[in-house]
Amino acid sequence: MDAGTVFATVSVTMLVNGLALGLIYRDLPSELRPSAVYWLVGTLLIALGCTGFAFGGPLPRPLMLTMANGFFIFGLAGYLRSLQEFHGERPQAYVFAVPVITTACVLVFSSVYPHFGIRLVVVSLGWSWLMIECIRLLVLGAREDRSLSRKMLAALFIVLFAYSVVRLLIYLSQNLRPDFAVETGANWINLASPIVMTLLPIVGTTTFSLMCSDQLRRKLERTASTDFLTGLPNRRALVEYGEEMFARTRAGRSVLAVAVLDVDHFKVVNDTYGHDTGDLALVHLARLLRAETRKVDVVARSGGEEFVILIEGLDEPETVAAVERLRLVVEDSAFNPAAGSMTITFSAGVSIYRAGDASFDDILRRADNALYRAKMRGRNRVEPWQAPVERAGSILH
Ligand code: GH3
Ligand code: MG
Ligand code: MG
Repeated sequence: MDAGTVFATVSVTMLVNGLALGLIYRDLPSELRPSAVYWLVGTLLIALGCTGFAFGGPLPRPLMLTMANGFFIFGLAGYLRSLQEFHGERPQAYVFAVPVITTACVLVFSSVYPHFGIRLVVVSLGWSWLMIECIRLLVLGAREDRSLSRKMLAALFIVLFAYSVVRLLIYLSQNLRPDFAVETGANWINLASPIVMTLLPIVGTTTFSLMCSDQLRRKLERTASTDFLTGLPNRRALVEYGEEMFARTRAGRSVLAVAVLDVDHFKVVNDTYGHDTGDLALVHLARLLRAETRKVDVVARSGGEEFVILIEGLDEPETVAAVERLRLVVEDSAFNPAAGSMTITFSAGVSIYRAGDASFDDILRRADNALYRAKMRGRNRVEPWQAPVERAGSILH
């Protein structure tokens, strides 16, 4: 089998694969579509490059070489643009300059001064530049998500990059004639190249689709566990964090303290200034709580005008003191809606893990009881949980 037949087979496979992505692309949300379109264009261009090597024989050789190599390098640039769109990066001039310069060099070194070695070096440099950029984006993005599909795509680009370096070194070490042709079966690496070439358009396209669906899933999870008004974790996320921290506490690796905060007379804020200003007051409070607590503390909006803070590593008096400090900060931070300056305050109840607690809910319930006491005792204060005093007569029953 010659390399032309291999190129013909893989180009058809790539076209079918690209078509599949073309069909599912409409199902993607609008923010992922530009990235998918670039990937699709990249795949089609690489398939056209393979078609050029497979069927371009009757064309003048410089034209065939320029077209096929041009399609390849523009296809790879399409993949890079796709990944840039995926990561919210703007296009830089080199993404277009590298394929243009590479293609122009192929034209010159196949028509004016035909030389396989120079073409090989130029094309390898262009490919390497674009692939290194793809790898950089994929590896940097992995800090934010730990998606397996992203790692697989990065691995694919790394394999291809390594292959193009090895291919360059092998060809150079063989001291080939300047009129050497890669689309013949004259060298085993001529056959290997079109096969390795399929990795990106076929395996890469599948991996890229998985990366898109991973991104969607993460976004949905984030939305489902975030409070839309304040951006803090919502009740659902709070329970998850709470149970996780409770398990750590029960295993003796930490001590969980819970503070439940409720804005005082919030109904009055709404009634006096309107619901929208009430919303702004909640955002203001959420910002203060987040800014004034440690990064490791969990600050959540558990509902309405109620917030919960999960703190690890402090005992009860220390937690009460920390929440008391927050109370003073909030009391001293005037909130300035268009209507005029106003102050909001909160009451809070605090409780920490006790031996015998069965779940996070036990601590939360006690903190809630303590909050009730803070409200009863006049509001704008912090109360630790206290065990109910047994009535004198109760032991008689
Ligand atoms: P207390 O000091 O006893 O807590 O009094 P309060 O007025 O804060 O408590 P109450 O439970 O009577 O009222 C809570 C109010 O919070 C009523 C409700 O309309 C308002 N509220 C709940 N969620 C939101 C919200 O998302 N935005 C706004 N603006 N108001 C909300
Ligand atoms: Mg309330
Ligand atoms: Mg309230």
